[in-house]
Amino acid sequence: MIECIFTVDYEIYGNGNGSLRELVYEPAEKLMAIFRKWNARFVAFVEAAELEIIQSSRTDSSIDLVERQIREFHGEGFEIGLHLHPQWYNARYEAGQWLLDYGEYNLCRLSFDRIDQLIDRSIAYLRKVLGAPGYNPLSFRAGNWLLQPTGTAAKSLAAHGIKIDSSVFKGGRQYQHNLDYRKSRKNGYYWAFSDDVNVPDPRGILLEIPTFAKMVPIWELFTAKRIGLNQKSPAKTQPRHKQLARLRDFLRLQHPMKLDFCRLTATEMIRMFEQEIKKDRGNPALFRPIVAIGHTKDLIDFNAVDEFLSYLQKCQIRISTFGDIYRIIQLQNPNARE
Ligand SMILES: [Zn+2]
Repeated sequence: MIECIFTVDYEIYGNGNGSLRELVYEPAEKLMAIFRKWNARFVAFVEAAELEIIQSSRTDSSIDLVERQIREFHGEGFEIGLHLHPQWYNARYEAGQWLLDYGEYNLCRLSFDRIDQLIDRSIAYLRKVLGAPGYNPLSFRAGNWLLQPTGTAAKSLAAHGIKIDSSVFKGGRQYQHNLDYRKSRKNGYYWAFSDDVNVPDPRGILLEIPTFAKMVPIWELFTAKRIGLNQKSPAKTQPRHKQLARLRDFLRLQHPMKLDFCRLTATEMIRMFEQEIKKDRGNPALFRPIVAIGHTKDLIDFNAVDEFLSYLQKCQIRISTFGDIYRIIQLQNPNARE
């Protein structure tokens, strides 16, 4: 059985550039309208750090619209997941520009106390925005997908009542940040883990439901649509050692292509899905949650999203949130594999 979970990272550009209205509020309004039309819901991974800091500094007046929209999501059954870019908490706004604290870029590299403090603060912000003191996020996605080294952050997330992480994309590798999800390729559609998100642990404290990705030769990633979106995001002038790290990432023969509903064309998404449907026919008893990813800042091609949703409905594939599937997963073997 296949269910598809749409997740959207709800944030501006990683360097702090861009307007909330253009990169967050307006694209999310259109996305909500499409999902309403298909009577479906997505998971909004709300980046709590940047929104709290922008709200307290009042650098972008659209923050009030954004907070209202988050309440609207919650009220209409869209799931609010926690997304966190900790470099925002010590950010300073100078001469019209955000200066982020890159010393705190990877949550997992901070001390347990600091991690705990930031997760506490981020959940408190979401509760305040939602006006719901009892709200607790069920799902989490780390900034820049960095859930490594896993152990300390996983403990704090679990202690805060979070049950599901969706930071992994199988086969992922970023030399610059020591991200390495290659080992997880042999795992199933989801698994429990504790100290290392790559390694299934039957007594794991969190559940990983990765963003769906398939390995492709590098040239398949250079489509016109993806190149166009890369040109839209702010140019990255990086020091030489970082450029070399990026080059090492590209030198691999096979790369993970995420099921990204903003960056892929409808045809590419459907092709990825067809392979899964074929596998499902061979073994329909296996539960296959498939997580699609998008970013509000990348949402331009709404027709592709609409076409993909129409395809899923035609194939009678349910569109779910993590909340919908959590109970199903608990009843299954958490490390079931093909
Ligand atoms: Zn993000």
